[in-house]
Amino acid sequence: MSGKNISGKELSALEKSKIAEKVKRLNSEGIYPKLSVIIVGENPASQSYVRGKHKDCAECGIISENIALPESVSQDELLSEIDRLNGDETVDGILVQLPLPRHIDEYSVINRISPEKDVDGFTAVNVGSLYLGKDCFTPCTPQGCIDLLDFAGVEIRGKKAVVIGRSNIVGKPVAQLLLQRNATVTVCHSKTKNLAEITKKADIIIVAIGKLGFLTGDMISDGAVIVDVGINRGRDGKLHGDADYETCIEKVSKITPVPGGVGLMTRVNLLKNTVKSAENRAKNA
Ligand code: NAD
Repeated sequence: MSGKNISGKELSALEKSKIAEKVKRLNSEGIYPKLSVIIVGENPASQSYVRGKHKDCAECGIISENIALPESVSQDELLSEIDRLNGDETVDGILVQLPLPRHIDEYSVINRISPEKDVDGFTAVNVGSLYLGKDCFTPCTPQGCIDLLDFAGVEIRGKKAVVIGRSNIVGKPVAQLLLQRNATVTVCHSKTKNLAEITKKADIIIVAIGKLGFLTGDMISDGAVIVDVGINRGRDGKLHGDADYETCIEKVSKITPVPGGVGLMTRVNLLKNTVKSAENRAKNA
């Protein structure tokens, strides 16, 4: 890792080699970790994310299967498919690619996944366990933020952490993980007043709002650490984060780049959770 950038590329490569080792060990015990991905409809962005997940699995020796259902699939049909996968002993992880078509209730579908196979960590059972500090599948992006801070040697304990964004998949769970690591956490959102006053006092800022270049250098203190979760397509056709890299880099002690930061760790943590589930299967065999 060089300079101020916290390299997701470097950390994900390290983690992937450890995952591949674990998979080999499991294979030698007759356990073949397997991820089943359900995709509904033909949203090009979803298709591209799903392709990435299969590629990652293949790289680490994890078996992955793609279950592509038509946009017109009924909620009951989708639920039956999840029931089938819940009952399939060879399947360790079940992932339903979001978003789902409007006629399907996302909450019902996600919560049909057995918590033991919920490698995204999105079911109410896993979310509840996370909040209670119990062992669970931690959601992949929030865990990736913590992994990058640890990789960079950033002390979390006792630090003022500000999370911008309160979504169920990023903002809320990352705030919870920071709290578990003994940070003093403030969660900001679209109704927060005088946001810059809050961010200027932060040692660590996690920004996850989906607005290109929103967090500018004048909103942070010298030496702050920024974890940039945002993924935004710029007018230049390239991907950019929620932090304005050019003005923030002058002041930060560390920052995660976009691309090459959190996104890569999200992908790695899905693999880690799938292997963790397979290890649980091996223990119970
Ligand atoms: P979301 O749309 O569900 O939530 C956005 C949050 O930002 C909301 O809580 C809202 O209150 C807050 N917000 C919006 N405008 C704000 C403002 N002006 N000031 C303060 N808060 C504001 O988004 P999400 O699903 O959490 O995703 C956020 C970003 O992270 C997106 O760019 C998304 O693409 C990206 N993302 C990246 C990864 C990854 O792996 N890197 C994973 C998930 C999401």
